[in-house]
Amino acid sequence: MIDNLDIDENLWFYLSDDDCMEKHFIIGNPHTFHGRIMGYCPEKKTSFYFSIKEIKSMSIQTEYWIKGFLSGNEPEAPLDEDGDTIYSGEKYDFWSKSIQLFHEYGYWHKGERLCDICGKKLYHSWPHLQCEECIK
Ligand SMILES: [Zn+2]
Ligand SMILES: [Zn+2]
Repeated sequence: MIDNLDIDENLWFYLSDDDCMEKHFIIGNPHTFHGRIMGYCPEKKTSFYFSIKEIKSMSIQTEYWIKGFLSGNEPEAPLDEDGDTIYSGEKYDFWSKSIQLFHEYGYWHKGERLCDICGKKLYHSWPHLQCEECIK
C-alpha cells in the first residue's frame, strides 16, 4: 500500500503520545473524518491517522500545510429549510465557533451531543463528552 512513497522531508512532526517518539512525516488526506491527517512512520514503516492536537512539535512547513488543510477541510455552513446556507443567527454562530475550535483540535462530530453532566450542547469540534465548564 505504501510502496514508492514520496516523502517530503520538510513535512515532519513529533507526536505527544509516547507510543512512538520517532520523527514522522505527513503524507496526505486519509478521507476518513474531517480534520484527520495521514502520517507515515519510517521506524514502523506504516501509515497512521492523527489530528493537529496530537502533535508535540513540527516544522514550519508542516504547520502551514496543516493550516491550509484544515481550512479546505472545514465542514459546510448550516442550511435553512430551503437548503440555502445560513450566514447569521444562532445556528450560524454555533457552527462558526465550532469551526474556530476545529482549527485547534482537528476534530468534528457531525451529530448533536450534550454535555454528560450539565446537558449543554457541545460544539461539533469539541473532543470531550463534558463541556468546557464541567471538565475542569
Ligand atoms: Zn513512529
Ligand atoms: Zn457541562
